[in-house]
Amino acid sequence: MKRETVIGLEVHVELATKTKIFCSCSTEFGGAPNTHCCPVCTGMPGTLPVLNKKVLEYAVRAGLALNCSINENNRFDRKNYFYPDLPKAYQISQLYLPFAQNGFVDIKTKSGVRRRICIHEIHMEEDAGKLIHSAKDDSTCTDYNRCGIPLLEIVTEPDFRTAEEVIAFLSRIKSVFEYLGISDCKMEEGSMRADVNLSVRPEGAVEFGTRTEMKNISSFRAIERAIAYEAKRQTEVIENGGTIIQETRRWDDAKGQSFSMRSKENAQDYRYFPEPDIPPVCISKEEIQHYNDICPEFADERAERFIREMNLSEEDAEIISDSKNLADIFEETVKICGAPSEVRFWFMSGLLYYMNESNTDACDIKLNPEKFAEFVSIVQSGKITRISGKQVFEKLLSGDDFDIMTFIKENHLEQVEDTGLVEEAVRAVISANPKAVSQYKNGETKILGFFVGQVMKKLKGKADPAIVNKAVADWLDRTNNNIK
Ligand code: ADP
Ligand code: MG
Ligand code: ZN
Repeated sequence: MKRETVIGLEVHVELATKTKIFCSCSTEFGGAPNTHCCPVCTGMPGTLPVLNKKVLEYAVRAGLALNCSINENNRFDRKNYFYPDLPKAYQISQLYLPFAQNGFVDIKTKSGVRRRICIHEIHMEEDAGKLIHSAKDDSTCTDYNRCGIPLLEIVTEPDFRTAEEVIAFLSRIKSVFEYLGISDCKMEEGSMRADVNLSVRPEGAVEFGTRTEMKNISSFRAIERAIAYEAKRQTEVIENGGTIIQETRRWDDAKGQSFSMRSKENAQDYRYFPEPDIPPVCISKEEIQHYNDICPEFADERAERFIREMNLSEEDAEIISDSKNLADIFEETVKICGAPSEVRFWFMSGLLYYMNESNTDACDIKLNPEKFAEFVSIVQSGKITRISGKQVFEKLLSGDDFDIMTFIKENHLEQVEDTGLVEEAVRAVISANPKAVSQYKNGETKILGFFVGQVMKKLKGKADPAIVNKAVADWLDRTNNNIK
């Protein structure tokens, strides 16, 4: 029997406000343990939380961008449970009246499948602290710096059928939130975390199967592997006549397996009740209208504009506009130098390669558009070739301030304009490779590429490949004719 995988996500995103959700402690990442805390976020008795206005603003803007309806009246609820990273022994969250509901996100997967993923709701809540386990003396310490960092939890409908769709959805959320400037959504740093709910059912069935939940998986790659593993595990259990237990499972990426953690708790287990310390939240129609009005142009629209205005291919336009930072650099640079196709070349061949190699997030790329534009103009003027341009481009990516022409001169990267030098190199290469010459004479014209490569190497990539090509061809044809 063919089976279908059904997936729903609960995505936690840390909001990039300067201060925490209910107190004025810093949200900065990486401070010494327990230095960004106060009596409020460490849950001292008698303290009172006050909602950070910026959190509400970011939340509403996220809700609107994800096509949700905003509840003008919403409120916080108390979710009770004890865990050492939660000093209050409860988390302030939203259960009964979340601020946003019934949204959707249109996604396009890597293989081009377009789908609409519905969002059940988005709520605001506070993050818990961190437990730091020391292998040295088998002890565990608590760091409360993360307590009270504002989170949005996005709950989707069980609309995903493949891991590819899940990745496309998370990438889209990251893109939208970067455009809004409300979160960097870095899975490696924990500012975006996804819980994967998964079940399997016979293809075409109406009812869903029983689901399991895998919590806090921390990379796209791990999510893909966890989904593949869990779908296979459930299918095998069912096909061997067993039943799936609704439970929370822990994905162990190193072992490549999921393990049962605990049977899934229900809302009742948390003894939710309305948070008595925080008054209900009211958002006016005017505020919602205002946030709607200041909604930025997102990746899709921007890609369309790039295709229209700069003649980019659909694929290039989508890759560049997915990250606001990259799209800003691109647009700004083109505006200054007026050469979209040359800028595109350096993006697609140089920049993407660099990001891959150095594992750099698109939002962390620092390329000064003025410098980049100056560099592009220098390449276009023929002062350097694209080959030697690589070295300059790498220097640009380092973010150092430097004078481009001085750098080119100091590193002897100027294009060899002296045709005498080119001729000389061609002659040397040809006389050093008599075998290849006779192959060429016997009709193996493809060998031309070999000669061009050798000459370029001799000239350290500093000659115009078109000129070298012509020089080599001329030389070979001349010797050819002489022999005939
Ligand atoms: P709970 O509040 O108990 O966690 P929800 O109904 O809120 O349960 O669902 C939580 C997540 O699980 C949602 O993302 C939802 O889409 C997903 N989900 C619900 N039922 C299934 C199912 N049968 N298979 C896969 N995912 C599911
Ligand atoms: Mg849940
Ligand atoms: Zn605090």
